[in-house]
Amino acid sequence: MSASVSDVLIVGGGLVGLATADAALRRGLSVTVLERERFGARASWAGAGMLNNRPWPRTQDPDYHDLMRASLRLHEEWAERLRKETEIDPGHVVCGALEIFVAGDPQAAEQSARLLEGAAERGVRAERVGRDRIRELEPQVELSAIDHALLYPDDGQVRNPRLAKALIASCRQRGARMLEAAEVADLALEGARAVGAVTSDGRRFEAKQVVVCAGAWTGTFKELAQRVPRIQRIEPVRGQLVCYQTEPGMLTRLLTAEHRYLVPRPDGLLLVGSTMERVGFDTTTTPEGQAELRAFAERWLPALVDREPVQGWADVRPGLKGSHPIMGPVPGMTGLFVAAGHFRNGIGLAPLTGEVLAALLAGQKPPIPIEPWLPRAAQD
Ligand SMILES: Cc1cc2nc3c(=O)[nH]c(=O)nc-3n(C[C@H](O)[C@H](O)[C@H](O)COP(=O)(O)OP(=O)(O)OC[C@H]3O[C@@H](n4cnc5c(N)ncnc54)[C@H](O)[C@@H]3O)c2cc1C
Repeated sequence: MSASVSDVLIVGGGLVGLATADAALRRGLSVTVLERERFGARASWAGAGMLNNRPWPRTQDPDYHDLMRASLRLHEEWAERLRKETEIDPGHVVCGALEIFVAGDPQAAEQSARLLEGAAERGVRAERVGRDRIRELEPQVELSAIDHALLYPDDGQVRNPRLAKALIASCRQRGARMLEAAEVADLALEGARAVGAVTSDGRRFEAKQVVVCAGAWTGTFKELAQRVPRIQRIEPVRGQLVCYQTEPGMLTRLLTAEHRYLVPRPDGLLLVGSTMERVGFDTTTTPEGQAELRAFAERWLPALVDREPVQGWADVRPGLKGSHPIMGPVPGMTGLFVAAGHFRNGIGLAPLTGEVLAALLAGQKPPIPIEPWLPRAAQD
């Protein structure tokens, strides 16, 4: 193989691909990343950046919440290192969160009790709080429809577009070859071995190992989809957001209720999300979706009534039933790996995904057991 052969070629430059590049570089591997559009500009830009962990009691060991918890632990250190390396602040803040249970919800008491049980089992701090305490914590939140809430003091957030910028800068500084407008049309295979990729404009990139991190588009790679049927089930799930500019401190914690959320940035930007729509790869916002999110925001923060959002946007999550990502070597192939299907939590899960993939690429043991998330062949 010639000197221009990378140790690792990564297809897709969202947060999952960038995290993998970052962790591979730290293990001394040479890295090329090919991105069809711009780095970090799809789901990884559009996401709300919540780093929240709401574990249910454990049903297997490890389970999805163990994966989440292990990844969330890495975010603070990640942000600190990237800030030092690049002078770009990814905006990691431990702001806490309130999960609201509305009055009259017949399942609220049981769900809330199970969440507290799951949190206690795993050492996640969580506390049941009533209306008086909520008023003290967040004076602007409308209380009348609330039965109670769970307070998660250690939940946090990150400015995901800035996190991506910092990762891009850091990877470039450390010598990664990072190409935008480079759409991979085909993986380059020699029998059952991956040896690189070919772009739609005919350029061939050689590598010893290839990782596909193509978000909602991962299922378009037929070699993957044929070998790992679950990859065919990764589907685009559109999420719309709206965003207000408020006075800083109108809300200080993440607020989640009835599958929607408010994310207050420390500078007063307030994100309201999000819809869950199965409409293919369409990333337009709709008047209905935007109006629904505005109504949700006004319901919980009446100070927003009569204010206009400053922006609205949408993009597609890499949806996969059960919210479980797939990560690891593709069975029956040498040198081919996949990391995809992170659905609603890919920003939170990115640093651990990167560590897992980089460890496998370097021939090391992953930092946690990954059996439940391994790609499986058709006959499994
Ligand atoms: C509205 C919304 C809110 C969200 N909120 C949160 C949140 O609060 N917290 C959280 O943890 N997660 C959140 N998410 C989910 C999170 O954003 C995703 O799980 C995560 O960004 C997925 O990262 P990714 O790198 O797999 O995908 P992407 O960011 O979509 O990156 C995949 C990349 O692959 C590229 N690509 C595709 N095909 C090719 C090809 N053939 N060749 C080259 N490149 C290719 C694409 O252009 C893209 O840049 C949210 C998502 C949305 C949409």
